[in-house]
Amino acid sequence: MRVDLHNHTTLCNHASGSIDEYISKAVELGINIYGFSCHAPMDFDSKYRMTFEELDEYHKMIIEAKKKYENQIEILMGLEVDFIKGREYLLDKKVLQYPCDYLIGSIHFIDEWGFDNPEFIGEYAKKDIDEYWKKYLQSIQKMAESRFFQIVGHFDLLKIFGYKPTESIFPYIKETLQVIRETEMVIEINAAGFRKPIKEQYPDFKILEYAKKIGIPITFGSDAHSIDQVGFGYEKCLQIAKKIGYKKAIYFKNKNPYSFSL
Ligand SMILES: [Zn+2]
Ligand SMILES: [Zn+2]
Repeated sequence: MRVDLHNHTTLCNHASGSIDEYISKAVELGINIYGFSCHAPMDFDSKYRMTFEELDEYHKMIIEAKKKYENQIEILMGLEVDFIKGREYLLDKKVLQYPCDYLIGSIHFIDEWGFDNPEFIGEYAKKDIDEYWKKYLQSIQKMAESRFFQIVGHFDLLKIFGYKPTESIFPYIKETLQVIRETEMVIEINAAGFRKPIKEQYPDFKILEYAKKIGIPITFGSDAHSIDQVGFGYEKCLQIAKKIGYKKAIYFKNKNPYSFSL
């Protein structure tokens, strides 16, 4: 069985292709369960996400697609929600309680810094990256502890432009994984990193090994923002998961986990 839970739509203003095109490609690739998880509305950085008014439209489009393709593929509705430590007030009740299949909790901001945006890449040179890794990991811990989310989005996204954590950060990574374990979240193996300067999946092999060791389940996401990115990098992610010893992965329906064999 093949599952891909992280895919965007044009509602976030930085993706292309219609929902039908995404689904056709997914069917063509033999994906069995395909989830949309576009950027949820938030009163922050609003040009990169759907508006609150569009949330119902998104829901309607996906429910229609679910019906339309029910004999070919199972379509799920998720949302990727920004968690910004120190700005938890931005989390919106309507989003958190929306009747969807799952919420992906993602950190794209440390304080004001949108660190995955190439526009602000210059900031990396100015910062003590280890300090920012600690802040980043603390944000993930807070996100997990909120218990609003089912899936940790792109666990080590801060490495996107090549600034991987040093060995001294690994204890903080372990501590963060423990919190994820305790809060019963699932980590996605996200293929988008293969398309970025870091050229590897999120999270890296060593992190996944530790996640496996302490019993954190996984899922898969291509983080597609265009049709050609649907299913991108899946084979590599699957091989990595198997090499680490994962035999099962998870998807969510109505926020309940379901396990399937790899
Ligand atoms: Zn995006
Ligand atoms: Zn993301």
